[in-house]
Amino acid sequence: MPNQNDSLAGRLAGIQSRFDNAFISAGRNPVDGTLIVVTKNHPAQLVLDLLELGGRDFGENRDQEAAPKAKEVADSVGTGLDYRWHFIGQLQSNKVRSVLQYSKIIHSLDRPSLLTAIGKEVQRKLEVEPEYRLGVFIQLNLTDDPARGGIQPANLLDFASQVSAFSAIDLLGVMGVASLDRQPEEDFETIRSCSEQLTGVYPHARFISAGMSQDFEAAIKFGATHVRIGTAITGTRV
Ligand SMILES: *Cc1c(COP(=O)(O)O)cnc(C)c1O
Repeated sequence: MPNQNDSLAGRLAGIQSRFDNAFISAGRNPVDGTLIVVTKNHPAQLVLDLLELGGRDFGENRDQEAAPKAKEVADSVGTGLDYRWHFIGQLQSNKVRSVLQYSKIIHSLDRPSLLTAIGKEVQRKLEVEPEYRLGVFIQLNLTDDPARGGIQPANLLDFASQVSAFSAIDLLGVMGVASLDRQPEEDFETIRSCSEQLTGVYPHARFISAGMSQDFEAAIKFGATHVRIGTAITGTRV
């Protein structure tokens, strides 16, 4: 147990320092970035260990796994500790209600039908909680195949205007996953140019969710604000 904790602490500290250095090299301030530890495939205890080490932002990609984990974490930390779940995986419309119970930031808004489902649930929540707000990133389709998930760059502004029709939904920015077929820099450049288009119309939607264990430093160089790091911190999956 001490060994495992030591190595988790060591990996977190190592990634945090690479994260800070990548921001500084890009002439940016690390406090403007968010390091999300992706805890999928790991138990609630890992999240509790990370909370103790100062981690506050956690990413999950499947509701079936995340919902019970979020409950277990909430039950053991109680109130008073400020931490956030970021939902980063493909989201089925029938899981929206469950996900919005623990997550206030969705990185994977990738299609109009999901926006409709989210909009309905947000409306329902507003009736009991008038101050309720949800943050969303529009997930981009970086492939040439329109059948793949995500909003194609050419449709970004149109989709953003649909998102902005919901007054309780904050459009945070764009999200992308670099393709394995080419250099990640090419995709990060595309994401950056989409972000520039978006902020031209919606100046507050300035965040960029991009970069994972293998490519987060490059993503930060291209403007990423939210990086999603799993294995480089959590180790191999159990
Ligand atoms: C799993 C996952 C990550 C983290 O991947 P690592 O390579 O383990 O850092 C980031 N983003 C998404 C969308 C994921 O599903």
